[in-house]
Amino acid sequence: MLGVLTGPDTLVTAADDFGHLVHRVPHAVLRPTSPGDVAEAVRRAARQGRRFAPQGRRHSVFGRSQAADGLVADMTGLRTVHPVADDRVTVDAGATWRDVLAATLPRGLVPAGLPDYLDLTVGGTLAVGGVGAQVSRTGVLADNVLGVEVVTGRGEIIACSSGELFDAVRGGLGQVGVVTRATLALVPAAPRVRRHLLVYPDLPTMLADQRLLAREDRFAAVQGAVLTGPAGGWVFRLDAVTDGDPAADPLAGLSDDRRQAQVTTMTQLDHLDRLAQLERALRANGQWSLPHPWLTTFVGDAAAGSVVAAELDRLVPADLGPFGQVGVSAFRGRSITSPMLRLPADELCFTFNLIRIPATADPADRLVADNRAVYDRVRAAGGTLYPASALPMSPEDWREHFGPAFERLRAAKEAFDPDHVLTPGYEVF
Ligand SMILES: Cc1cc2nc3c(=O)[nH]c(=O)nc-3n(C[C@H](O)[C@H](O)[C@H](O)COP(=O)(O)OP(=O)(O)OC[C@H]3O[C@@H](n4cnc5c(N)ncnc54)[C@H](O)[C@@H]3O)c2cc1C
Repeated sequence: MLGVLTGPDTLVTAADDFGHLVHRVPHAVLRPTSPGDVAEAVRRAARQGRRFAPQGRRHSVFGRSQAADGLVADMTGLRTVHPVADDRVTVDAGATWRDVLAATLPRGLVPAGLPDYLDLTVGGTLAVGGVGAQVSRTGVLADNVLGVEVVTGRGEIIACSSGELFDAVRGGLGQVGVVTRATLALVPAAPRVRRHLLVYPDLPTMLADQRLLAREDRFAAVQGAVLTGPAGGWVFRLDAVTDGDPAADPLAGLSDDRRQAQVTTMTQLDHLDRLAQLERALRANGQWSLPHPWLTTFVGDAAAGSVVAAELDRLVPADLGPFGQVGVSAFRGRSITSPMLRLPADELCFTFNLIRIPATADPADRLVADNRAVYDRVRAAGGTLYPASALPMSPEDWREHFGPAFERLRAAKEAFDPDHVLTPGYEVF
């Protein structure tokens, strides 16, 4: 029996997300507990002439899982993790990465393409693609999904592992189907990792080491960040992790300020769950519930140095906030193969993310407008958007964003959601 909730508190909650920037109140919240329930929910929305949006953990930052006067479905009632095999696991799409790891880590396995934050749902992450620290080694989540079960906008349940529906579901912003189940590739993970926090004197030196490391395989995961320093100014930091104890010195040939290097050993789970500490701090100081105007993009190697330096010159540290950071991480562009993920043409690419955590809500509108300006400059330099971002995007912007992949997405939309019932929050169609 499909649960239907219309209480004012439930509707207000469903009209909010981690961004706290966009609020669209739905007509009702549905609580499916099976793929059949999801299919019924989508058909009900179509019958009522309403739009339908699945909601995972509502960690999108710009209303992307909302539907004004529509039906939204809380997908977290579908969270079963099915038995783990040696190389794969099938999970219901409302399961979080924390749920998945609880089943796979005891077997020494982790999903390939795991994101950095564990409290996202599998379905919500798949809608955007899913980028994690190990992207050079494994690609993104969308590259590592072996099969999906999908409820289309027509309310049909279809299982697929190739073809136009499969391609459009992975990174296709929920436009053609609601994922109810996904089979994920698993890779081995050591029980413990060694983490190296390396500090650099400046941006060019950090980027140079990132280029070197992205072409090699000496670390399982590498992430760069620019942080606000305690005495003002920027701190340039690389976070590089080896699975277990490395045979050779993994820092050989790197140009960091070795006196400031910190090396620690920790469990794999503590490493994979490293953002939990930040979450605890933000919940404790109240900033978890303030607006989060984040911007996430990809910049090609040729433009990365100048784009990042120019944006750092423009950026006011208070707009990033003491807990915020600029994420700048190199990866091999070819490691990502899913057609809906849009990347610069360069062989090496950088993620370039403004993880803004301002200490008050005041600058939110200005920062959303600023995100749009930054994105326009990134795009002019050949960069692309990672669509987990807080900025207005028109259908024309999305057409340009998807480039040659847009026609494939549009054709899949016509085939599988011809009445445009699904996922209005992205405003793609
Ligand atoms: C603290 C934090 C850390 C993050 N870390 C990462 C990271 O490491 N890597 C990364 O790639 N991203 C990261 N993100 C971005 C995040 O992956 C996206 O915002 C993601 O879409 C949110 O997932 P969710 O489960 O909360 O989904 P929601 O925000 O609820 O939904 C997101 C979108 O997906 C759609 N959707 C939800 N469920 C389904 C489904 N089953 N089938 C089809 N569509 C669906 C929704 O309608 C909506 O359009 C992070 C975000 C936050 C706030």
